[in-house]
This record gives sequence, C-alpha cells and structure tokens, in this order.
Amino acid sequence: SAEPGRPYRVVLLGASGVGKTAFASIFAGAADSMDSDDCELYEVTEKEIEVDGEPASITLIDTWDSERYMQTGDAYLLLYSITDRASYLRASELRITLRRFRPAQNTPIILVGNKCDLVRRREVSVSEGRACAAVFDCKFIETSAAMQHNVWEAFRGIVRQLRLRRDSK
Ligand code: GDP
Repeated sequence: SAEPGRPYRVVLLGASGVGKTAFASIFAGAADSMDSDDCELYEVTEKEIEVDGEPASITLIDTWDSERYMQTGDAYLLLYSITDRASYLRASELRITLRRFRPAQNTPIILVGNKCDLVRRREVSVSEGRACAAVFDCKFIETSAAMQHNVWEAFRGIVRQLRLRRDSK
C-alpha cells in the first residue's frame, strides 16, 4: 500500500507484442517512439499525473521478466492484444500466477484488451474480454495505443482503484 509521498508502483504485464512498450511510451510522453528494444530487461518511468483533481505519482514498470515484479507492484495492467488469442490466454495465466504471488490482497488489476483499432484482425470479442475480467474479478478496458485511445483512462482507472483501497483502510 502506498504511503503519502511514495509513488504507486504500476506494473505492465502481458505477452510479447501486446503493446506494453507502446503504453510505457505514451506514459513517458514519447508516443512517437513505439519501436521497442527487445534486449532491455525493463524500463522504469516515474511521473505525476492528475486524476480527479488530485495528483498521483506513478512508477511505471515495463518488463518481460514479469515474475520478478509480481511481489513488488501496487497495481497491474494486464495486457493482451485483441488480435492475438494466445495473448488473451496468456493474460489468464498471468492472472492466476499473480493470485499465487498475492494471495490475500485485493491488488488492483485492470485487464486491458489493446489494439482495438485493428478491427478486421480481431480474435477476441469485447464480451470475451469482459467475461474474463468478471471471472478474475478485475476491471476491463479496451484500448488502442496506436490511436492513443483509452490509454490514459486505463492509468486513471488504476489510480482510482488504488485510492479506493487506500481510503478503505
Ligand atoms: P510489447 O512487446 O508488449 O512491449 O509490445 P510493443 O509495445 O513493442 O508493441 C508490439 C507491436 O504492436 C509494435 O509494432 C507496436 O507498434 C504495435 N502496437 C502496439 N499497440 C498497438 C495498438 O494499439 N494498435 C496497433 N495497430 N498496433 C499497436
């Protein structure tokens, strides 16, 4: 749980190619540099954003070595690509792994169906995404990092959940 002054640690999880780097680039404010360097272990960006009129500090962690970060995150954006059914199944696996690492805590998680601009390549329907989120007891949003659609909404959503949890303590 985040004390005042300590940034929320938000971790991007998901299969390779789903758009984690694109999300991190938008967050960092460099939306044009969407080409990722696959050799990087992880990238960390710290930033303050305003959500509902109140500032929130976020440390965003973008990594392929997800298991290392399953114990340290305050919240998770669990990404898949709507054009890649395997990445949707991977998101379910990651959710189960997360639950194993964080058994007793109601860690904020948003299931993110990215690449919703690629309508003709869709392999996962909106209702499947919603159903998966319901099973895993997390929020759901479809985004397009390419169109910058709903990406900030996802970040704001995670901050709102973190605040709800903070305020209920
Ligand atoms: P990562 O492996 O999860 O970090 O995925 P990347 O962010 O590197 O994205 C993989 C590829 O998908 C790149 O070519 C991105 O430009 C592309 N991409 C990411 N998000 C979107 C999106 O919302 N729509 C489209 N059309 N392409 C995307």
